[in-house]
Amino acid sequence: RHLLEGSGASRGMALGRARLEQPSRFLVDETPLEQGEVAAELERIDQALASARGELRALRDKLKGPLAREVAEFIEAHSLILADPEFIHGLHDLISTGRYHASAALKMQRDSLVAVFEAMEDPYLRSRREDIEHVIGRVQGALSRESSIEERKLASRVGEILVSDTVAPSELVPLAEHGVLGFILTAGSTLSHSAILARSLRLPMVVGSHQALSHLQDGDLILIDGDTGNVVVHPTAQDLAGYRHWQREVAQQDKRRARLRDAETRTLDGTTIQLYANAEMPGDIANARAYGAAGIGLYRTEFLFLQRKDAPGEEEQFLAYRDLVLGMGGQPVTIRTLDLGADKADSAGLALEDEPNPALGVRGVRLSLRIPQLMHAQLRAILRTTGYGPVRILVPMISAVEEIITVRRMVKECAMQLRTEGHEIADQFDIGAMIEVPAAAIALPGMIPHLDFVSIGTNDLVQYTLAVDRNNNELGDLYDPLHPAVLRLIAQTIAVCRRTRRPVTLCGEIAGDVNFTAMLIALGLTEFSMHPGLILEVREIVNAINRAELRKLAPSLLHATDRESIRSVVQSMRAQFRPIVENVALAPSQA
Ligand code: PEP
Ligand code: MG
Repeated sequence: RHLLEGSGASRGMALGRARLEQPSRFLVDETPLEQGEVAAELERIDQALASARGELRALRDKLKGPLAREVAEFIEAHSLILADPEFIHGLHDLISTGRYHASAALKMQRDSLVAVFEAMEDPYLRSRREDIEHVIGRVQGALSRESSIEERKLASRVGEILVSDTVAPSELVPLAEHGVLGFILTAGSTLSHSAILARSLRLPMVVGSHQALSHLQDGDLILIDGDTGNVVVHPTAQDLAGYRHWQREVAQQDKRRARLRDAETRTLDGTTIQLYANAEMPGDIANARAYGAAGIGLYRTEFLFLQRKDAPGEEEQFLAYRDLVLGMGGQPVTIRTLDLGADKADSAGLALEDEPNPALGVRGVRLSLRIPQLMHAQLRAILRTTGYGPVRILVPMISAVEEIITVRRMVKECAMQLRTEGHEIADQFDIGAMIEVPAAAIALPGMIPHLDFVSIGTNDLVQYTLAVDRNNNELGDLYDPLHPAVLRLIAQTIAVCRRTRRPVTLCGEIAGDVNFTAMLIALGLTEFSMHPGLILEVREIVNAINRAELRKLAPSLLHATDRESIRSVVQSMRAQFRPIVENVALAPSQA
């Protein structure tokens, strides 16, 4: 028995045979082309591109089931890369002017594109380099007339755990359908599209397991744990007993939770807690409904702006937001205005100056206010959906009251314009702010008269309060939502909102983490917004706790000054519902 380590990217365990997918060797012909060979080589690359596009089309046509739309989007993104005139022109140029063979030209294009993505600060965009590699791998496959990756992978996959450098999102669903039980990737990131899909498919995935390809052999029996990122090679009888125990627990949990889909979310002493869904992709909307979300608590509109050259106009945005509102069938929907910064804005064609420190730069509302035509188009698009269902407008990165006053004025102007133009929009709509910059939390009493509701963004609140980059894995230990400063800001924000009767939601990652549920309820929170797949877990906890008892523990939480005592209070809050959560692993930093 030995152990390989990685990071958990999709939860759960799987026991199966390792199936190694060695990185396909990029056979590159380095010799220069003769003048007379150029035309034939151009023809070869065009044919390879066409056949790669054809493969993607065929894949898309085969899609069915609940994730079809989501996967179709990834395939679409890959098709766009293959159709990109700059990409094609670059290849042609390398072949005709540089006299490179098609394989060498393709490799050069890949290397330079990968370098661009790797240099990006934003981990989400950086993880898009995988897309480039998958697409180019497909063209390479077509060039060398190998069978496509799909065909090789799909021969027989029952009971296998795929061990590979990366896996393309488009390959994930067919692999799952053919029996693959889980994934170990030597590279990959927890933010990649593949990881997101693996979570939706409930297939465990471990990423960053650098040694997996060199230390495993085809057919090795392995046990992977997508919670801890551990991979046990040749598990012992004890490991197997642990796995069977986990299986029984999951089966029981699933049975219990299935009953919770249509259940209310209410504490033992009768307080209703609202569980909303965070959404960014169409699939999230279906899941929000499936898991009985109370509505959409955070719709991240920037996903509409990524992976494209121009910003979407009013009409395109309107149609996307209207789909969302219609999809939620009358439940409230909170649409957040654009939260892009200099690090991401290039992809939406918003030519912005590079900034040395984008997280502290022109991001969120700061960007929107600097490009008023962009903000107007977005506000108009959102306002036009208010005729179709209850919609609230949420503004990110607010740090000063003047920003919210300006946004309110713009909303008013847009609403007047729209009414003059004859659009049916609601008489009244709520405008709220993300509280994610410490200044906003501290100055909230002065801001609250201008806000109809508040949403606490702990992902950023932690980063800005503690001066710890949320994307820097090196600082993982310091990124602590239970830091006393963070807890106080959360508690103060909730208290101000309760005093002034403003609804307050928390939409950072901790909202969906059952380790924090009791603590947040103790601090007075009654509205949570989270990844839809986490709603049932949180509902189960809420339904088993006594809010009044928890509220009594809030002062001791806020008076605790160091990690250890804070964790011991949080632990005693969790103790209330120990029978349910004893199997919920506490990450070491939270234990
Ligand atoms: C947050 O900052 O907590 C949040 C929900 O927003 P995002 O993760 O999109 O920055
Ligand atoms: Mg944020």
